[in-house]
Amino acid sequence: IQSTVVKVSPAFTSQRCPRCGLVEKTNRHHDTHEYWCKQCQYRCNDDRLGAMNIEMLGQEWLNGVKHPKIEKLTTAG
Ligand SMILES: [Zn+2]
Repeated sequence: IQSTVVKVSPAFTSQRCPRCGLVEKTNRHHDTHEYWCKQCQYRCNDDRLGAMNIEMLGQEWLNGVKHPKIEKLTTAG
């Protein structure tokens, strides 16, 4: 079995909702170690969420994205 280590940007991996894609810092609750999306109500453990997002970035890399990263979309500007 061959494995590859992929470097992905850790930015926003603890802030992105895997269900609806919302990137929102305040969705993460440090006190309860919980991520709770205020847009779609998705909930899970915050460490698990980070792992899920890093896996997502790894999949993007496999799909040909050279530098996969999560971008926070804003309505400003
Ligand atoms: Zn969501």
